[in-house]
Amino acid sequence: MVYQNTWDMDQVFPGGSDSPQFYEKLAELEKKNARFAEWVNEWNADNDRPDYHTFAEILKEHEALSKGLGEARTFMSGLASADTSDAKARTNLNRIANHYKQLSNTLVVLQKKIGDFSQNDFDELLKIEPFNERAFALTEIREESQKLLSTEEEELLNHLSIDGFQGWGDMYNELVSTIRVPFKEGGKVNVYSAGQAENKMSGETDTKKRDEMLRIWENTWKDKDHLFATTLNHLAGFRLADQKAHGINDFMEPPLEYNRMQEETLDAMWQVISENKAKIVDYFNRKAELLNLDQLSWLDVTAPINLGNFEAKEYTFTEAADFIIDNFKRFSPKMAELSQQAFNEKWIEAEDRPGKRPGGYCANLPESEQSRIFMTFSGTSDNVSTLAHELGHAFHSSVLRDLPLLNQRYAMNVAETASTLAELVVSDATIENADSETEKITLLDEKVARSATMMMNIHARYLFEKSFYEERQDGIVTAERLSELMLAAQKEAYEDALKTYHPMFWAAKLHFYSTGVPFYNFPYTFGYFFSLGIYARALEADASFEDEYIALLRDTASMTTEDLAQKHLNVDLTQPDFWQDVMNQVHADVDEFLNLTKKYV
Ligand SMILES: [Zn+2]
Repeated sequence: MVYQNTWDMDQVFPGGSDSPQFYEKLAELEKKNARFAEWVNEWNADNDRPDYHTFAEILKEHEALSKGLGEARTFMSGLASADTSDAKARTNLNRIANHYKQLSNTLVVLQKKIGDFSQNDFDELLKIEPFNERAFALTEIREESQKLLSTEEEELLNHLSIDGFQGWGDMYNELVSTIRVPFKEGGKVNVYSAGQAENKMSGETDTKKRDEMLRIWENTWKDKDHLFATTLNHLAGFRLADQKAHGINDFMEPPLEYNRMQEETLDAMWQVISENKAKIVDYFNRKAELLNLDQLSWLDVTAPINLGNFEAKEYTFTEAADFIIDNFKRFSPKMAELSQQAFNEKWIEAEDRPGKRPGGYCANLPESEQSRIFMTFSGTSDNVSTLAHELGHAFHSSVLRDLPLLNQRYAMNVAETASTLAELVVSDATIENADSETEKITLLDEKVARSATMMMNIHARYLFEKSFYEERQDGIVTAERLSELMLAAQKEAYEDALKTYHPMFWAAKLHFYSTGVPFYNFPYTFGYFFSLGIYARALEADASFEDEYIALLRDTASMTTEDLAQKHLNVDLTQPDFWQDVMNQVHADVDEFLNLTKKYV
């Protein structure tokens, strides 16, 4: 069987970005959105007691509207990704975004009304269906609402944030687009954008050239460091003022709440990681030897090691599909089955051709009860792992599908559970499947480097952001000070094991300027090692593991992270044990790497 490597979007709405059926759908959603706003505005909870029939209808309507919008958005953003010249798709995406904005305005009104319930009424409400099943989400919505200011004030804040907070976020993108990196190549100077320069640096195999590139890269950002510092200071300043207005005095509270986790869990994770960094330093030292260096520089950590020539294994799309399905089967037959369906029903856009946007993602089609996966597949082992990763996301969506929508909104720290797990299953299999020892070492090196990134690079981001926010509370933090804080964070996170660092990282890394959630860093490390912990259990467990795993995924949006781990893994995330088990796996990978590479030094 040969699988098609382009997706079928016509079964969602026929005719591409100008599809008449899509416009019909949009018109229908517009009407629904307006009607929903009316319902919510008119709804009086006191008159709705004791069975809250209208409230139940409102939840039902919200679900239908959200599903419709989700379907439209996945369709249209898919078309925009698959053909970046499709201007109509972009215009239509904008239309959908406006519908979302209208819906979110209505939801604020609804949230305030839920917040206005007396505690007694709310407790009674949660005893009856359909509210009981959604108790966790409704309680969360109610608790968040307690922090809200008046509707007028919230609206004013939203309006101001467009030209304030969001404005500074836009400013960052503008500034980045002016970055020009002059790299010397073959006797002449080529000028690159920030994104291009990053690709150049990560692909460079000559260690001396890498050092030179990092020096130029640092200087390029430093030339504009005051502009970036102003932008970062205002973003954080707006955020702190907004938090203060809502009675929040601890800047760690929102990111922890958003990820539904306790500070104790975060501290336990970083503590255990820190205690286990010596092993990663051993890996650094061996990698330095393999690269003929005394010590690794910043860019060397994730650089490829060259142990002589080997033909890297290549996979056709169909070979990748069979390989993934076979390996999934050993771990979870249901995940294999879902993946088989994705290939059969053409959910995946993987063709390697010009005009596609970079990167990969998986998006849900809630009405079609399918997913769509976007990526560019050129046949590498890495591509096979990415494809498995996205299929993991599709599997997560599929096991949540029959749940209430409010029980499907999982946070960022657990969003990558199924995908990371699927990727681990397949990337370990590609390591086993390597044609030569040198290829095996290369793949293993990528895996260990990834753990090192989670343990050190992300840790440095977290340490920097924390010290920056602490100082920002007392006023503007200068560009020079930001670089000092970053250098200190990197030295601490990397155990002082590198020869050079990247002090301008605070300007070069987009994540510090994200207007979505603050501390867009620790959820990565959490998510990766949480999955690794589940993976370890899967390797030891019997067939019953699959059902337990699915039960865990189904609960990802219905309880706190600690409860999730306690209920399904029987572990206490606030204690070191779980994290140490995970670190032992990292040790095993490093030991294998050290063993295999012994004869090459
Ligand atoms: Zn992902």
